[in-house]
Formats: sequence, C-alpha cells, structure tokens
Amino acid sequence: MAKYSLPALPYEYDALEPHLSAELLALHHDKHHAAYVKGANETLEKLAEARRKQDFAAINQLEKSLAFHLSGHLLHSLLWKNLCPDGGGVPSSDLGAAIDEHFGSFEAFKAQLTAAAESLQGSGWGALSWEPLGKRLLIEQVFDHQGNVGSSTLPILVVDMWEHAYYLQYQNRKAAWLENFWELANWTDAGERFARVRGTEIAL
Ligand code: FE
Repeated sequence: MAKYSLPALPYEYDALEPHLSAELLALHHDKHHAAYVKGANETLEKLAEARRKQDFAAINQLEKSLAFHLSGHLLHSLLWKNLCPDGGGVPSSDLGAAIDEHFGSFEAFKAQLTAAAESLQGSGWGALSWEPLGKRLLIEQVFDHQGNVGSSTLPILVVDMWEHAYYLQYQNRKAAWLENFWELANWTDAGERFARVRGTEIAL
C-alpha cells in the first residue's frame, strides 16, 4: 500500500516573493508539511501494530493523530497549488459565477473568508469549500487541520493561518499576510478544482 509522500513545490522557493519569503516557504514546506506526511505514515503504522496486538489502549490518541496529520498533509498540498507568482485578481469562468451566486459578490465572499481566517482563535485555516449534499459553496473556519469542518465538504481554496505560515515574515500582522494571500491566489487552479468537484455525488 502506498505511503503518503511530500509533493514537490510547483515553483522555486523565492517565486512568491515579496509576498511570501523564500525562507518562510522553505521552512513551511520542507519542515512543517514534511512533518505531517511523516506523522500520517507513522500513525498508520501504529494503528496496524495495534490491530496486530489487539491492543487499543492508545486508540483515542491515534485516531486524532491520523485526522490531524492526514488533514495537514492534504491542506498543505492544496495550499501550494492555490498560490502562484502571478496570482490575485478575481476568478473567471464557472467559479466566478458560482461565487456570485452563493455569496452575493466576490467582494462579499472575500470579506467573509478574510474575517473567518483573521479571527481564528488558535491555529487553523480559512477554506472555500464545495458542499456536495446541498451543491453549494461554503466558507469554513477550520480548527487545527481537521476541526469545525462539515463531513461532506471538499476544499477548493485554502489559507493557512497557523503562526508558522506567516510569523517569520509578518510577525503578528495577520491582516497583512491575508492581504498578500489574495495577491497570490491562483484562480486558475481553484477554477479547475471547482470544475472537478462540483459533479461529486454523495451516496445516501
Ligand atoms: Fe502550515
């Protein structure tokens, strides 16, 4: 069975400067993201070991660890694709139209996602997600990597609000990081992902 692996960044470390420094991006990808990949693989090994021994004394910690590391791996893998050197602006195509439909306007959507991300208490993420049950776009305020999230949602565009995502460059200025996140947002990538997930059917 394949193990989870760290994907390469789709650009050079300094490609997102000045909005995101090479030093910060290298640490974030090579150390933090790598740790989530390692954690997911190690947790699966420990769960296999627990099954072999029929010893589930640590099951609560292991199940939480699995959700934390696997979600961390997924969100970071998505984040690197959501950023690009010539990003920013507004989405065109079907995603732009869907944002208008579900949030009223792009500006209203941007204000809600910015508010959800900036006001996070502790570590977490802001996410634009597709909810296949009701077939609608939602904004989610994600705690850690896996909390406060609807069971059916599929993230399309995410912003990392853990301190490791901005503190080295922005210190406590969360708003400044978010302002520059919008300048890096890769709407081509998000639009392509939306086109793929919008047909997802929840089998109930
Ligand atoms: Fe992160």
